[in-house]
Amino acid sequence: MTIWNLGSINADMVYAVPHLPRPGETLPASDLSRFLGGKGANMSVAAARAGAGVRHIGAVGPDGLWAAKRLAGYGVDTRHVAQAEAPTGHAIIAVESSGENLILLFPGANREIGADHLTRALGEARAGDLLVMQNETNAQVEAARMGRDLGLTVCYAAAPFDAEAVQAVLPYLDFLILNEVEAEQLQQATGLAPAELPVTQVIVTLGSKGARYFDTESGEFADFPALKVEAVDTTGAGDTFTGYVLAGMDRGMPMPQAIDLAMRAAAIMVTRHGTADVIPDLAEVQRARL
Ligand code: ADP
Repeated sequence: MTIWNLGSINADMVYAVPHLPRPGETLPASDLSRFLGGKGANMSVAAARAGAGVRHIGAVGPDGLWAAKRLAGYGVDTRHVAQAEAPTGHAIIAVESSGENLILLFPGANREIGADHLTRALGEARAGDLLVMQNETNAQVEAARMGRDLGLTVCYAAAPFDAEAVQAVLPYLDFLILNEVEAEQLQQATGLAPAELPVTQVIVTLGSKGARYFDTESGEFADFPALKVEAVDTTGAGDTFTGYVLAGMDRGMPMPQAIDLAMRAAAIMVTRHGTADVIPDLAEVQRARL
């Protein structure tokens, strides 16, 4: 089966600075590194590295062809990554030596995904395929509705959190994944605890505490303690977790097994710096002694 990901593709531009700039300050940076980023791209790479067939639906600007190529280089099918007129989504990240950072995010082409583009892409999907979205593109509701009509399993990672965005897609979802803070924010907005949400399955990730899985139909939940590792950078851990869970679901794994695999992949991620470019593949996850 195929995992369809309506997702962001960003250029993460990381500038090394002596201190974070103050208002009005012009600050020379001593180094610049460019990485593939965006929650969407990270999830596509994670699911592809876990062995799933992934088709990414997204857009880059004329300056972002390298990003689409890099995504393809990690095994993601990019035939539905369009070229928009807007610049590629990007994050300008200033990092001082202490690790403290400041991030400016411009969504650019990620918010320029047209209805025709979406219809063309999902027109190739088959009932039973998975569709995933996050809150970094436009057209989430249209995609979720189309996914439901086509008989896809519709999944949503509620990040970056926006209560209105989640509530708009909620009626079309089968599976929702969110972190502890997002789960609390959603409960404040809707009055519904994770177990009460109108979706079949919910995972709440709990950082170094692990994850909790809710089967809302049976009302049961199960806790999965995190693996003990020396964490150096948790960026991308959540996206890797999600990509691996989806790959497991796509392969027909029972959810506890998919979560176990995802925890292993996420645990490796927190031990290293970087995002899409350092997501481990299945062989490494299976080999790791965690
Ligand atoms: P997000 O980055 O989306 O906020 P979390 O911080 O909840 O997501 O992390 C996602 C998953 O990554 C967790 O469920 C856990 O499996 C793993 N993880 C995160 N932080 C750690 C850590 N310090 N040690 C081990 N695993 C971790």
